[in-house]
Amino acid sequence: MQHLPFPVSAADDEAMIKKMGKKPDWEPYEAAWIAGYQAYRANGGSPFVVAPHNFGPGIHDRQYDLYDSRKGSGDLGRMRRKEGLKSCPVCGSPVTGDLDHYLPRTIYPEFSIMRANLVPACRHCNSGVKGTTVHGGEPRRFIHPYFDDWVEDAIWYVEIVPPFEAAQFRPCALPGLTAPRDEIVAFHLQNVLGTQFHLSMATEWSSLPTQIKLRDTELSIGSVTRQVAQELQVALAAKGRNSWHAALFRGIQFDPLAIRHLRDEAIASVLPPVA
Ligand SMILES: [Zn+2]
Repeated sequence: MQHLPFPVSAADDEAMIKKMGKKPDWEPYEAAWIAGYQAYRANGGSPFVVAPHNFGPGIHDRQYDLYDSRKGSGDLGRMRRKEGLKSCPVCGSPVTGDLDHYLPRTIYPEFSIMRANLVPACRHCNSGVKGTTVHGGEPRRFIHPYFDDWVEDAIWYVEIVPPFEAAQFRPCALPGLTAPRDEIVAFHLQNVLGTQFHLSMATEWSSLPTQIKLRDTELSIGSVTRQVAQELQVALAAKGRNSWHAALFRGIQFDPLAIRHLRDEAIASVLPPVA
């Protein structure tokens, strides 16, 4: 979850459609295609405003397939391999290296290669419900990394749900988000975070007491609280404001009972032998 600058200008994307329109088999669709794309840009890709355009079944499939023939090279290849990302801009996982269609190409094939609709992402994002879900009733929709600039700020945290020995991890919108952002964030979290998120949180949570013991000789509530604050700073710097790890440490910081549990477990834990 991250705000990103547009990969190309509106004119660049339009120029691509016009170039294709020079070929006779695309030419009849050029005007409607450009109009659809302009509506997308003007409305921030909102699925409540931008309706899929029915170009007909054969054209639908050809538009859909355009992405497959282009995703590995050129502009789309470069977007997929975008460097300098600290975490997945869509879900916050530590993995990058894939592309996600903001409006899914099964429903909106006309945007299958429009770069304003393509966001660097991870494979977890592309394996969940996001491929077929567009929104959850107004105003519930996914965050758009190019248009939703308010995602520059922290927007979520992970609540640690007891019992702490077998904790569950509940992604939550940060309190204080104004409407409709609170509902957009809640919908986004509910639909982009899947099994991999929960596994990753469980692994991090269960290894924390040992990590704390290694770094903290005092093991008081105060010293463990300071360590959690420090881990949050590390996560912010290394993975970004809305990464999985930043959200986890933000959630622990909110919860004195979780900190007490970590302190008690750290005291009880046995350090691994030094090889
Ligand atoms: Zn992702």
